Amino acid sequence: MNYYIHNGWPYKHIEHWPPMTYRDRSPPTPEKLIAFHELLKTENNDNKIKELQPWLPFCEGKCSFCYFTVNCEKHSVTPYISALKKALDSYAKTKYVSSSVFNELYIGGGSPSVISNDQIADLLDFCRTTFNLNSDHTTKFTACTTNLSLEKINVLSSNNVRQLDIGIQTFNDLLRKNLMIRDNSKDAKEKLQLSRKNGLRTSIDLLYNLPGQTLDQWIEDINQAIELEVESVDCYPLDLYPETTLAKRISYGELPPTGDEDIEMKMYLEAYRIFKENGYKPTCHNRFSRIEEDFKEPSSEVVGTGAGFFMGHLNRFLYSDVEDLQMYINAVKDETFPIARLTSLSKEEEMRKAMMLIYIRIPVNREWFRKEYGRFPEEMFPKALERLTNKGLIETLNGNIQLTEKGDPWRFNIAWEFFKNNKL
Ligand code: SF4
Repeated sequence: MNYYIHNGWPYKHIEHWPPMTYRDRSPPTPEKLIAFHELLKTENNDNKIKELQPWLPFCEGKCSFCYFTVNCEKHSVTPYISALKKALDSYAKTKYVSSSVFNELYIGGGSPSVISNDQIADLLDFCRTTFNLNSDHTTKFTACTTNLSLEKINVLSSNNVRQLDIGIQTFNDLLRKNLMIRDNSKDAKEKLQLSRKNGLRTSIDLLYNLPGQTLDQWIEDINQAIELEVESVDCYPLDLYPETTLAKRISYGELPPTGDEDIEMKMYLEAYRIFKENGYKPTCHNRFSRIEEDFKEPSSEVVGTGAGFFMGHLNRFLYSDVEDLQMYINAVKDETFPIARLTSLSKEEEMRKAMMLIYIRIPVNREWFRKEYGRFPEEMFPKALERLTNKGLIETLNGNIQLTEKGDPWRFNIAWEFFKNNKL
């Protein structure tokens, strides 16, 4: 892809987040909570893809750019896991979840690989015996190279973990230091190689537009990921949150600022070009992948829980849990679902959400949309579709509405188009 395609940017600003994230949700009202509990009393008999997501918000140390609520106190791990299992069990006992079949088990967080080998084996076993997971379900585990010993890799692999999701961020040691990542690039690379050698797929995160990072350094990161033969790479532009150590160091003048949006765009387009040339295809929110499953239908529901868990999606409800660890443990003790934010989607919001498949690079089939919602997408979103098509950001091919290559870097902006007034 050439930069010239982007002359006359279709938007003034590159969005980093789509609508409907946990940021847009509000605390649950009593009515919404009652409706949520009522849903849990019903049977879930659709055949759609579902994910189970236990959340462990623990890390070895806090990275300077990280805006997640994470906990570094190892003494809290055991009481937290007991609370987590209790909360998971409460979901599992409901009619809705006990009649749901899951295709994927995703242990997210933080860096759950920080917990002990026995705790890993126990939690995986607990999930598999408590929930209906397909016999061929995929298990993914979020990990940090700092605590990935050979022994831990073997425990993960022998407990049928298929993939490790690892936050590498950068292979450049100076930049790693600025990000307060605890191991060096050489050690991190060895852990990636060790994981692959022992049968685990590796999916890594890389950050771009870091303070002081040049385009060449970014290209070097991409090339190293390819050389290491990782199966997929999630490329995120740095989002600087004022409360983070990194943002403070930049504001004190201790570190250079991040590049402007023009540099950010160039970095993204280089990633797009190089990954594509090396057999990786764009998919999901920010991923370049050569894993077949990454291009299949995404999960329609995510049942999960944990302090800071934010991906909950059951039927028309989106939910996130309390962030504070102790509050989470207390809420579970009080036999309540530890939900902090809850949204109930109206039919119209469900349609808007369905159109967001475009931004995760999944085409929206017009006939499917009509079957689900009784109207074609162009009847519901005439102006947005016309505008996006005229700008060359989307196209309709064989009844599928999808991103164009020109639209790809603007996919988050495109997602927001479906949340404007339909008439605009
Ligand atoms: S390892 Fe990941 S979750 Fe933990 S502090 Fe670093 S970026 Fe945040």
